[in-house]
Amino acid sequence: MPALSDEQLRVTADVCVVGAGAAGLWAAQVAAAAGCRVVLLEKTRRTGTKVLASGGTKCNLTTTLGWQDAAALFGTRGERFLRRAFRTLPPDAVRDRFEEWGVRTEVAPLEKIFPSSGKAVHVRDALERAVDHAGVRTITEAPVADLERTSDGWRVMTMGGGEVRASRVVLSPGGMSYPSTGTTGDGYPWLEALGCEMVEPVPALVPLTSSDTSITDLTGIALQEVVARLLDDRGKTLGARERPVLFTHHGVSGPGAMDHSVHVAREVASARREGRAPRAFRLSLDLLPNLDRDEVRALLIDAAGRPGAPRIGRVLPAELPKRLVAVISAQAGLPETDPRAGELNKSQRHALVEVLKGFSVPIDGTLGFDKAEVTAGGLALREVDPGTMAVKRHPGLYACGEILDLAGPIGGLNFQSAFATAELAGRAVAENG
Ligand SMILES: Cc1cc2nc3c(=O)[nH]c(=O)nc-3n(C[C@H](O)[C@H](O)[C@H](O)COP(=O)(O)OP(=O)(O)OC[C@H]3O[C@@H](n4cnc5c(N)ncnc54)[C@H](O)[C@@H]3O)c2cc1C
Repeated sequence: MPALSDEQLRVTADVCVVGAGAAGLWAAQVAAAAGCRVVLLEKTRRTGTKVLASGGTKCNLTTTLGWQDAAALFGTRGERFLRRAFRTLPPDAVRDRFEEWGVRTEVAPLEKIFPSSGKAVHVRDALERAVDHAGVRTITEAPVADLERTSDGWRVMTMGGGEVRASRVVLSPGGMSYPSTGTTGDGYPWLEALGCEMVEPVPALVPLTSSDTSITDLTGIALQEVVARLLDDRGKTLGARERPVLFTHHGVSGPGAMDHSVHVAREVASARREGRAPRAFRLSLDLLPNLDRDEVRALLIDAAGRPGAPRIGRVLPAELPKRLVAVISAQAGLPETDPRAGELNKSQRHALVEVLKGFSVPIDGTLGFDKAEVTAGGLALREVDPGTMAVKRHPGLYACGEILDLAGPIGGLNFQSAFATAELAGRAVAENG
């Protein structure tokens, strides 16, 4: 996979793919396997950097969900847009493709699929092998600076003056999350200059911050079985996820928190634009999701009558650490940090039940793009044909992956979206030669 100096880079191809991440690698191999001469340009020294970093270097490459359920996790507009892509390349087809490429896969909890080896590098290497096998010419250390329409296609220009001429271009330079991996929003100005509508990029799947010290003092506590609801400043529920939550010295992390982060990030961005303070959010954690309020109340009443007068921290079915029980007690206004169940009067018991079913975590922001797994926003979906990923009004230009205004929750959904949109783009550039 050679890096060429820019003076040497004068290439003509059928298809130029910009960005060798999950989407670019996938689109390039699909187009080349269908007979196109494909050049794949990558800014950094290697391909698939985010694949390597993904899923804690284990790479949650797709989901066990069926295509309809998977698409539904992208919100109303995202679902409508992704239907064709996910029907064409459903999650089980992604899994099958990797198996064909020699990557054994296995199911993990929460509908996740990982390589059985637990190594993301095996996923990245399989993509590289597929690209090489299909005859793609991959050029690394070739950062694209701009692109322009020519009389017979497109001219893709690199930073140092090199160029690729191609009749079709697939844009897959990603978003601007985790900029340390090479994704710094490079594609946005190119599309803006072409007059495309863009949706303001905001960080998504990013830890949430809280300046409440009673929360940050809980650092290190992980809750596995919890329902996390994000509430706005009027108490309206913006979303609910039954996923683990982790307390950190910044606030809260884990999928139960990160899956909600796009709402907070959008508000922070609007507030910054409008020069005002962002509205407050609250994460409400149902610490006993398998019991309703009456069952929790019955449990406390039953414990109150038991010999030995157990403390509340001992009578709950979930193992709640002492530090957390102390904050629960404070939020419920109880006189002690871990009172005995028998010491509670009716209104204290009621307050305790409410806190156990809605432990409150004040949220004031996110950790931003540096720690965001994906970018929400980007190329507006109405600019793109959902059946081909063609950028409307710009013949020969296609876009796939994270540059599109799509962001799904944690769980292999974002690779699924990158691969499926790339499959359509790869097929379309091959068919529309
Ligand atoms: C830490 C982390 C963990 C993650 N874990 C998971 C997971 O387990 N499962 C999951 O589904 N998703 C995960 N994601 C999200 C997933 O990585 C992205 O959704 C996916 O990589 C998007 O694919 P893409 O090809 O569109 O963009 P990217 O993978 O970001 O690839 C874009 C490529 O374009 C290149 N590029 C950028 N600008 C230029 C330019 N000017 N010229 C040439 N090349 C350029 C970049 O260097 C990069 O190689 C994770 C993300 C992060 C950051």
